Amino acid sequence: MPDFDIIVVGAGTAGMPCAIEAVATGARVLVIEQTDRPGGTLHVSLGQLSGAATQLQAQQGIEDNAAAHLADIERINGGTARTDLLRRTVDRQGATIDWLMELGFDMDPACPAILYLHEAYSVARTYWGVDGGLSVFKAVRPLFERAMKQPNASLRYGTRATSLLTTDGTVTGLRVEYGGQSHEITAGAVVLASGGYGGNARMFEQLTGRPLVTAALDSSTGAGIEMAQSIGARLVGANKYLPTYAGIPQTAGGDRIDWRQMPALTPQQRQPWELHLSPDGRRFVREDSPSVDEREHALLDLPELRFWCVFDDAILRDAPALLPGWTGDELRDAWASRPDFVRADTVPELARATGMDPAHLSDSLNAYAAACGGDAPDRTGRLHCPRPIAGPGLRAILMHGMVLKTAAGLDVTDRLEVRGDAGVIPGLYAVGEVMGGAALSGQGFVSGMSVTPALTLGRWLGAELGTSVTTQSKNRNDL
Ligand SMILES: Cc1cc2nc3c(=O)[nH]c(=O)nc-3n(C[C@H](O)[C@H](O)[C@H](O)COP(=O)(O)OP(=O)(O)OC[C@H]3O[C@@H](n4cnc5c(N)ncnc54)[C@H](O)[C@@H]3O)c2cc1C
Repeated sequence: MPDFDIIVVGAGTAGMPCAIEAVATGARVLVIEQTDRPGGTLHVSLGQLSGAATQLQAQQGIEDNAAAHLADIERINGGTARTDLLRRTVDRQGATIDWLMELGFDMDPACPAILYLHEAYSVARTYWGVDGGLSVFKAVRPLFERAMKQPNASLRYGTRATSLLTTDGTVTGLRVEYGGQSHEITAGAVVLASGGYGGNARMFEQLTGRPLVTAALDSSTGAGIEMAQSIGARLVGANKYLPTYAGIPQTAGGDRIDWRQMPALTPQQRQPWELHLSPDGRRFVREDSPSVDEREHALLDLPELRFWCVFDDAILRDAPALLPGWTGDELRDAWASRPDFVRADTVPELARATGMDPAHLSDSLNAYAAACGGDAPDRTGRLHCPRPIAGPGLRAILMHGMVLKTAAGLDVTDRLEVRGDAGVIPGLYAVGEVMGGAALSGQGFVSGMSVTPALTLGRWLGAELGTSVTTQSKNRNDL
């Protein structure tokens, strides 16, 4: 008999609900977590959720259903995600929102709402907690901790899965490291709930050919993906990478972003007063396009995924804040010392300090000034042209397309069995971002379609695997 019926790798967004449901069936469950705390990416995630036909929608008279949610997702991403997997999760996401509410989820009173950070749904079905992802964590954590105290549950922090054990092609357990030593643990099923690779620059660059600039945690190492690949699992979705528009690293030239310091670039919340210019000084995007998808795809045309956001002293003074999450001290320090926050008196000087081509920069500013004066249409089709950018005091901030979640992941069946070229790998399952963000969002970002599926499919998989184990054992006992 194996040491455990089920091992869940990762006590994060998907792993916690998976373990909760598996333990409730009576299965013998081990959860291993490489860090010293549960919650995974929920500690930094915005935690926006989506689900149709929720009790909250009903209370507010919002008509919605799972079919409409699915149709909206496929409209937004042009049908580039997995419809079978979408059905499995979307049909249950409304129930996930109701479940969170029963657990005491501290929902923002503005929910449900239509949000514009990603391409918008056609009805109000996005929800978020007052503390973002932490609100989700606070709701689920007590249930997880209670489950882990059951006699059929074990939990090990500081324990890292390093490879999968197999016998004749079937996964039979894991090799793990803790206390500086390697150990083997056997199980009837291994669930990889180990997240994406948004903290792993090497893997990200290999898969996308782009430099990593990320708001993900270091614990998003992609280890689960690489472990499964090494026993023949197939990787899918690498060609569907799309950057989030856009962020500023915590340090100049650094690759880590704190999402609380994200610039206000959503036109539905703040119309742009600035120009976004490619590293050589050309316009590449309609800054006020209501479609974030259009802006994100335009960013893909810039090999390094970065651009200069250009304005002047008068705009800084008169426009709504571009960096609302920054304190006065942080801004003063940045302008005083960071090479990616540039102030210059003349266009040639700005070009020199930013590396932009002076001719392109000048041409971009002049053409935009003509559009502001009504002398010519803006060359990108931009409609919000409040005033030319002419100084005195020209300014530019370097911004980057960034990673919130990673696109590529393990190929799974609609029952979340991991598969390789030769078919399903028995005993191995994947749930959450380890399946690749593209599986459910395609080449696009769809509101709430990472956290909610991680919770929903995590619960579903835990219950399915647990029930199958306990039914088999009951059948054996009945014989
Ligand atoms: C800043 C930010 C904002 C976001 N906002 C949203 C949003 O608003 N809405 C949305 O839907 N999505 C959002 N996302 C994405 C979403 O939060 C994630 O895709 C999701 O939380 C990932 O869940 P997961 O369970 O797959 O991974 P995680 O929650 O990261 O959990 C994985 C766990 O596995 C552990 N682990 C990894 N490898 C090993 C190993 N080898 N051994 C043991 N343990 C291991 C990790 O330490 C971690 O605890 C955001 C992401 C970021 C970074």
